[in-house]
Amino acid sequence: MNIEDHKKKKQIAILGSTGSIGTQALQVVEEHPDLYEVYALTANNRVESLIAQARKFQPEVVVIANEDKYAGLKEALNDMPVKVYAGMDALCQVVEAAPIDIVLTAMVGYAGLKPTMSAIRAGKAIALANKETLVVAGELVNELAQQYRTPILPVDSEHSAIFQCLVGEFGNPIEKLILTASGGPFRTCSMEELQTVTKVQALKHPNWEMGAKITVDSATMMNKGFEVIEAKWLFGVRPDQIEVVVHPQSVIHSMVQFGDGSVKAQLGMPDMRLPIQYAFSYPERISSSFERLDFSKCTSLTFEQPDMRRFRNLALAYEAMHRGGNMPCIVNAANEVVVDAFLKEGIAFLGMSDVIEKTMERASFIKNPVYEDYVATDVEARRIASEFVRSSCV
Ligand code: NAD
Ligand code: MG
Repeated sequence: MNIEDHKKKKQIAILGSTGSIGTQALQVVEEHPDLYEVYALTANNRVESLIAQARKFQPEVVVIANEDKYAGLKEALNDMPVKVYAGMDALCQVVEAAPIDIVLTAMVGYAGLKPTMSAIRAGKAIALANKETLVVAGELVNELAQQYRTPILPVDSEHSAIFQCLVGEFGNPIEKLILTASGGPFRTCSMEELQTVTKVQALKHPNWEMGAKITVDSATMMNKGFEVIEAKWLFGVRPDQIEVVVHPQSVIHSMVQFGDGSVKAQLGMPDMRLPIQYAFSYPERISSSFERLDFSKCTSLTFEQPDMRRFRNLALAYEAMHRGGNMPCIVNAANEVVVDAFLKEGIAFLGMSDVIEKTMERASFIKNPVYEDYVATDVEARRIASEFVRSSCV
């Protein structure tokens, strides 16, 4: 690498730039204009904020996934030298553009799988926020990443914490990974109280400001279940080596216990800009102006065991991980359906686990799925889960 290469700004594509992770990633870019440049911005529906972002960050390309919104976007950016595209195929092609160094996958849900696979095939470093990609098809994504020698850098705060704990430990035996969980807004609710909790209550996360889907997943603890599966694929450990501990303060972001019994933890403010920046700057650690932990304010760090009876989604995710094959894909699809229904007040909080469990029983199990099987599984599991939601026979 010559000196010019060192000076070159990293070109970043942000999939889902209008969301919680996407907007925070843009703050990281703003913080380091000498290091990073936005090459592509993409969104699903929020045209107005995509237009504002394009004006501010001057990317080469913008893509709107919803094709109905194309005309308005194109018109609004007519006076700029930016390429404007629409649709899923465009999204998958844009990530392959030669100048791109890093693709941040910050869109939500199963929709992240295909463009992430395209980016891996194009050899782009993946800053992975979209955990659903690894939940749905972790084995396939890992194989692809190995084949194309593409690094997958975790953005999820727990996985970034583990990744940071593992720096310098190459080859040293890992005994277990300890994922911390805030426990969400219903941590102390009784089973009876959980029967009547509302969408508004679920959307009030105690420590993190996130998109609606992951906020509901945090309230049901499906998010932690998904993170356990994500950790299995990212760090190549056995399921029994992954432990969840509830830590309501969200100061310790996760831990690694090594073969000698020593435990390393990564601590910091609950601020997603930190793990996003680390994924961008790795292997370097660069400075930032983000708020620091103040130990005169955080005077106690507490730990509890997760309750899989009250938070049945966590148990269902563990079960899916143990059964393997397309089962996590089934759980993900059913979960997307029930979370959407819950946000539209079409299902009760505890009803979500019932539908997921029934969908796991009903959908066709495939032990060794290929890509097409995941696509078919997603369609089938969504159909089954939607029927259960509609018939409310759960
Ligand atoms: P969000 O709802 O705030 O934003 C989602 C973004 O993806 C938006 O820009 C939206 O336009 C785009 N999008 C949604 N559906 C799409 C589709 N079908 N096709 C193309 N684009 C689509 O979500 P978020 O909270 O930023 O989360 C994004 C991802 O990051 C999720 O997978 C989530 O689990 C993960 N994550 C988020 C956080 C967080 O703090 N928000 C933390 C860890 C991991
Ligand atoms: Mg997380």
